[in-house]
Amino acid sequence: MTATAHALVGGAIAASVKDPALGITLSAATHPFLDMIPHWDFGWGWKKKNKVTLFLQALFDLVLGFTLAYLLFGQNISFWYFTACVFASEVWDIMEAPYWFLNWRFPPFSWIYNVQSRMQGKLKLPWGILTQVAAVVIIVLIFKGF
Ligand SMILES: [Zn+2]
Repeated sequence: MTATAHALVGGAIAASVKDPALGITLSAATHPFLDMIPHWDFGWGWKKKNKVTLFLQALFDLVLGFTLAYLLFGQNISFWYFTACVFASEVWDIMEAPYWFLNWRFPPFSWIYNVQSRMQGKLKLPWGILTQVAAVVIIVLIFKGF
């Protein structure tokens, strides 16, 4: 999924799970499950995009996700705990970045790339965005109930 979707889930977890060890673990653990839901991502067709475009899109996605998650969930909790959960929720994709941008085609980056690209549920626009919105809303509501 987009970094924005992952960041919102990480932020929601940080806001509702008090125990940092549990919150950070949960944030990282939700990532592969979210990626299984059919969705659209900036990275689709990355082999055909030039690296500057890809980098700028990834950066935009990271900044947007962090900002939205902070506005919605981060204001009344520890900034460091919030940041740790958002980072943990995105860590799989961040670990994949060297494979994309630096052509680091060796472990662990190639492993993460292979596992992640096999587990992605792909869907075109606009449905690929709507599935993410729906998934994020449902997860946020679940954590609000804690
Ligand atoms: Zn991923």
